[in-house]
Amino acid sequence: MLDITPMPATDVAAADLAHHLHPFADMKELVDGGVRVMTRGEGCYVYDSDGKRYLDAFAGLWCVNVGYGRREIADAVFAQMNALPYYNTYFATTTTATARLAEKICSYAGPAINRVFFTNSGSEANDTWLRMARVYWATLGKSEKSVVIARQNAYHGSTVAGASLGGMKHMHEQGNLPIPGIVHIGQPYWYGEGGDLAPAEFGLARARELEDKILELGPERVAAFVAEPIQGVGGVIVPPETYWPEIQRICRKYDILLAVDEVITGFGRLGSWFGYQHYGLEPDFCAIAKGLSSGYLPIAGVMVSDRVADVLVNQAGPFHHGFTYSGHPVAAAAALANLRILEEERLVERVRDDIGPYFAQAWRGLSDHVMVGEAVSVGLLGAVQLVLDKATRRRFSRPGDIGMVIRNFCIMRGVIVRASADRILVSPPFTISRSEVDDIVSTLRDVMDFVSAELSSD
Ligand code: PMP
Repeated sequence: MLDITPMPATDVAAADLAHHLHPFADMKELVDGGVRVMTRGEGCYVYDSDGKRYLDAFAGLWCVNVGYGRREIADAVFAQMNALPYYNTYFATTTTATARLAEKICSYAGPAINRVFFTNSGSEANDTWLRMARVYWATLGKSEKSVVIARQNAYHGSTVAGASLGGMKHMHEQGNLPIPGIVHIGQPYWYGEGGDLAPAEFGLARARELEDKILELGPERVAAFVAEPIQGVGGVIVPPETYWPEIQRICRKYDILLAVDEVITGFGRLGSWFGYQHYGLEPDFCAIAKGLSSGYLPIAGVMVSDRVADVLVNQAGPFHHGFTYSGHPVAAAAALANLRILEEERLVERVRDDIGPYFAQAWRGLSDHVMVGEAVSVGLLGAVQLVLDKATRRRFSRPGDIGMVIRNFCIMRGVIVRASADRILVSPPFTISRSEVDDIVSTLRDVMDFVSAELSSD
């Protein structure tokens, strides 16, 4: 028998730090500082091994959208495990859960998207459409059309292609990235980079960097443009309203495929099933992950427009790409149960019409704080920008330090938020109550009061 006797938490932490290499971690710092052992979750709360309770304003890692402890998902997983724990989808086979899930996802997608390719992670989803885009153009006799334009400070995952598509300098520095054939343009981050331009002008200017880059490379060499509807990891950067319509226009004008990375924004976070619906876009690829199963099991994929799928299906021949667990039946069963909860409890509508607007109002209230340059949100995705001086938009000299301090104090006070440079990010479960929203906002305000008082007494 496998030994799964619960260890005392200190032993768990010791075992972890001795043997487990964590993602995105400075392991030396972690070994010196220790790890928190999470043991249980219920609703919007998680508990650690000391029994301390945290309000999870980050939904795990932007994913536990239906909240913790959903029996329906566990039951669906148990039933599927017993019926058929695994089968592949390679050799002219499928499973009921896989097929039903593909059909279900497409039912939310709108008329122009009717196919899904399954992967395990968001990173793999981005690797997948990148190859599909090149196969698409090659099939049409345009193999030269292979460069992908992405953006600085975007996050598209940690595989070699995902990290290359992303625009994180610190990731590129490790391992000679980006790989050839991927280039980057500026991000629509008005607060940080807009200078004297009005947000609308800046949005247009940043979108037109796409046109400039296409013309520099030659449209006959550009396969696709990729972006998150709202950058997540990069700091919940909400683009000015002028940005997305201009990007769509440019993609159409030069016949460039549009790939949206909806790993965070998909399945309701912005109050629409997909962020491309919120912004009125017509993408050719849409990467999905996290909210598809609310993180209960790993499953992800790429939704593909009819325009591209028709060529891939009818003309391209075999696509030499796939994963052992593409469309895993148990993960698909978890995703189906998750989507049923979203539908039955009308959680996407709740984000759009009820808790989203409530959150927006409470969150924007923080903008009167002396440390807050802007407080922005769409649906249940929010950020505050911490600043040294509101009037001049002057920021702290060492980006990241103050964000980390504020994040850590919030966690100590029992509210989990994330920091990205000097932006504090939240992405709570869709089931969050009004009073829980108030708790997030008041905890963050108290922490900022405390930190700003400390700073001014220095
Ligand atoms: N794209 C976006 C927009 C993401 O936020 C993430 C993960 N945070 C990924 C891709 C990568 O997903 P995964 O970690 O599942 O590979």
